[in-house]
Amino acid sequence: MTLVFSDVHLHANPISGLGAEKIAKKFKKANGWFMALVSLPPQHYGIDGLGFESHEKSIKILLGESEKARREGVEVSILAGFHPSLIDVYFKAGWSSSEIVELAEKIIDYIAKLHEEKAVDGIGEVGRQHYVVNPAWIVTSELILIYAIEVARDNDMLIHLHLEQGGYSTVASVKRIAELTKINVDSLLLHHVSPSEAHYAEIYECWYTIPAKEKLYRTLLPNKPKRLMTESDFIDDPKRPGVSSYPWDIPRELMSLISRGVVDEEYLYRVEVENVSKFYRVKPP
Ligand SMILES: [Zn+2]
Ligand SMILES: [Zn+2]
Repeated sequence: MTLVFSDVHLHANPISGLGAEKIAKKFKKANGWFMALVSLPPQHYGIDGLGFESHEKSIKILLGESEKARREGVEVSILAGFHPSLIDVYFKAGWSSSEIVELAEKIIDYIAKLHEEKAVDGIGEVGRQHYVVNPAWIVTSELILIYAIEVARDNDMLIHLHLEQGGYSTVASVKRIAELTKINVDSLLLHHVSPSEAHYAEIYECWYTIPAKEKLYRTLLPNKPKRLMTESDFIDDPKRPGVSSYPWDIPRELMSLISRGVVDEEYLYRVEVENVSKFYRVKPP
């Protein structure tokens, strides 16, 4: 049996990057079977202007990209959201906290409507900034995060969380918000975590992803964690190469670890296929 691979959080940019068609083709060739495509902020697609319409346009680009990836024979899940870095963009442009929250809620409602029409599978990414920023901006992000979780709960949607790498407090706060809002914790995914969050995510039984970095794989995989999945968090921006990793780094790094006896194929089948099929509710290949 040939092992197949999944990239459960990546972005595609047909305007300035490779775009989903080329990405899916290359990933499929490297035995990739599943991709979860996540929306990019409108400015990444060269969409100027702030407000609802620019987000609507960028979500439409995402839907088109997903269609192209599917045509290449890859299983695709689609998530659209309001990236926490956008909160900074709007504050810097002079918007007030209440105006930003109102806009984000309108966008999240729109995504829920798309989910009803079966055009998207979930909300992603939403969360908190991972860098130093005005504390009031983080609280604004958290208001949006809680709203997104409630909408995901009410509509049975998946949700990708972009968070700071704070170890215990990062994971415990998400778990606590999940309890307070009564969302099923199995619909949440903590994306792009470090070993410290991975440790607590295992304790709190939360799904999480790690980017394709050899050092991370070597640190985490030999312990065979149960809730781990792999992502590239590829941003498809030729001006910022090497930010995070490439989708095809996932098969390359994992195959190399198998050949060196660091991990076994049976465990990787769990990570690359079983976990993905459980979380994304898709049939295994
Ligand atoms: Zn992110
Ligand atoms: Zn991302």
